[in-house]
Amino acid sequence: MTGNARTGVKSSVPRERINIDYLVSRRPIHVNPSLCAECGGDCCKRYAGAAHPSDFGRSRASRLRNIRVALESGSWSVDWWEGNPGGCRGSGTAYYVRPAHVERRWPGSVRDPSWGGTCVFFQEGKGCALPLRQRPTGCRTLIPKDGRMCKHPYQDGKSDKYHAAVAWWPYRKDVERIVEEVDARGSERSMEKS
Ligand code: SF4
Ligand code: SF4
Repeated sequence: MTGNARTGVKSSVPRERINIDYLVSRRPIHVNPSLCAECGGDCCKRYAGAAHPSDFGRSRASRLRNIRVALESGSWSVDWWEGNPGGCRGSGTAYYVRPAHVERRWPGSVRDPSWGGTCVFFQEGKGCALPLRQRPTGCRTLIPKDGRMCKHPYQDGKSDKYHAAVAWWPYRKDVERIVEEVDARGSERSMEKS
């Protein structure tokens, strides 16, 4: 299941300084096992939920360490929002982290700009392989509703991806560097095997 944020905060302060990650990660977790079992995991088969930096640890250093471990595992990918998602200071590409898709598009890279796909943690007939509290913020905050009208609690109407892009904005350069290093290490390993 996927998820996202809307702070509902009206302010002239740039969004990254409002700390959208802090606000979103403290939202309640919504579960409805019977409804989701009946649905069969439609959201998890369409697009993996976006993670936020706080899903990877408390401090900046531990987050960056854990992101590297996650990407090296092959179960996580880096997706992005082209340019500044809006309201953030500076320029660049808004990289964010989410579970990999089974139908990964860019073999040989942890980058994956898929428009859709099945989350690698989804198990047909069983649901998510991750314990509830270890699921990405985007998954934990999605509110299941009848008729697959499931919604994130964001009042600005913007997507899970948008909110993840804003939450990761202060990390974008570090994430890009880690992606390059993980990809380079992956290439070296492939050459060593051949
Ligand atoms: S009911 Fe909604 S939240 Fe539950 S599995 Fe289906 S799409 Fe996902
Ligand atoms: S992490 Fe779990 S809940 Fe989130 S999209 Fe993947 S299978 Fe679904």
